[in-house]
Amino acid sequence: MAQFDPKNDATQPNQTSPDSESSSTCGSQPSLLNEGASRRKFLQMAVGGAVAGLVTSTGIEFMEFVAPSSALAQSTLTPEMALKELLEGNKRFAAGNLTSFEQDLAILRNHTSEKQQPFAAVLACADSRVPVELIFDQTIGHIFVTRNAGNITTSEIIASLEYGAAVLGTKVILVMGHGACGAVDATIQGKEVPGQISALYPHIQPAVDLAGPDLEATVKANAKIQAALLRQASPVISGLVKKEKLLVLAAFYNISSGVVSLLK
Ligand SMILES: [Zn+2]
Repeated sequence: MAQFDPKNDATQPNQTSPDSESSSTCGSQPSLLNEGASRRKFLQMAVGGAVAGLVTSTGIEFMEFVAPSSALAQSTLTPEMALKELLEGNKRFAAGNLTSFEQDLAILRNHTSEKQQPFAAVLACADSRVPVELIFDQTIGHIFVTRNAGNITTSEIIASLEYGAAVLGTKVILVMGHGACGAVDATIQGKEVPGQISALYPHIQPAVDLAGPDLEATVKANAKIQAALLRQASPVISGLVKKEKLLVLAAFYNISSGVVSLLK
């Protein structure tokens, strides 16, 4: 019949302190991070340093639509470091050791409300089993994601990824196919489909011609073809690749194991 539970009372400060601690340090970049998350801290500080430079040199209000310029490069990571960050995140995901949820999403939303500095871009399939941020154990503001069924390089995708690389400063672009891709499978089979779905087929057909009818081989060929198309069709992207400021790579996501592997 106890009316007062001292245990509940004692936990009250513990329940509220993380919030008040977080909000009191909202403006400080390292405070986004847990004490133990040194890897994350390194990444955030690398990105944050570049942002500070940008703010003082150009002001942040118009950075969304300014012309591409090397002065606008955001992340200080090299393309190799950016790739490593993605692959290490995928290792954590595949092993069930996600760390991205340790970060305070409210603070991250606030911190990125007027600007973004994604270090990587991904062109993935629209498939619901390919949640890009989750697969790479990343959170708000880290990956510039473009998706469509079959992860195909269209002019709108090129424009988006050019924006990501030239304006926002992404250092790596992964074109990522995945196991059991319905878009690729439908193209292989030449399925009759309603509406405009078959508009995807001509984009995927070169991969079918090269590697079909095996589904996984065709998915992998398609990722490589779309990555090559991206490199060739965009002078902006090929220019950054030539200057070694950007990597454009094809990858395959195994939806059963959760593992992303690079395709050579
Ligand atoms: Zn797919």
